[in-house]
Amino acid sequence: MTTIILATQNPGKIREMRALLDESEISILGLSELGSNFDEPDETGTTFLANATIKAQAYAKATGHWCLADDSGLIVDALDGAPGVISSHYAFDGQTEGEAATLSREQRDAKNIDRLLFDLQSTEDRSARFVCTMVLATPTGEIAATSTGTFEGRIGSPPDVPRGEGGFGYDPVFLVAPDHTTASSQLTSEEKNALSHRGQAVRTMVEKIAGIREIRA
Ligand code: IMP
Repeated sequence: MTTIILATQNPGKIREMRALLDESEISILGLSELGSNFDEPDETGTTFLANATIKAQAYAKATGHWCLADDSGLIVDALDGAPGVISSHYAFDGQTEGEAATLSREQRDAKNIDRLLFDLQSTEDRSARFVCTMVLATPTGEIAATSTGTFEGRIGSPPDVPRGEGGFGYDPVFLVAPDHTTASSQLTSEEKNALSHRGQAVRTMVEKIAGIREIRA
């Protein structure tokens, strides 16, 4: 059975991939399940594809296994594509050290939302989309497959947003197209997976993996 390492510490993402590959001869392992610590590569790319590639290649070479990595974020048209690749640290201008390092993910998310709403306070065009790009690297670090998904919507305005209890990141302010009445934080995880950038990217990648003969060998 071939093993694919998922370059994530997020147990939710590992469960999701395992469920999608349930019927196949592929075993999915999270990095933490390999029993040793691997250096995190610097995500120095300016695109989601570049950063997903950096992670997939680094962990493939470090582990000697096939490796699947993703990178995702929010693109806001009126902000020329920001927050983009620095979505998780937008309020800190992309800095992961200093104050950002002292906060929990939830605290960072709240600050990122405040910054986004501030930046858009006098902006009418609030169209936005989440993007997720996945890259599969071979055990020697060659790129074997890529996939991308997008999730269209609009950034709501206070006091209508933030709202909802589910999701993470910018979900409490992201109103889902085409109606723009429901925030992605108000969807169940099944509803969000069916629509989301990540769900689309994962499904396309699973189809591509099924067509790679060397993985089944
Ligand atoms: P990562 O790819 O998991 O590191 O996510 C990058 C960042 O993009 C997250 O920290 C969020 O700020 C944002 N983001 C990506 N996907 C979503 C989503 O589905 N909902 C809300 N925010 C997201």
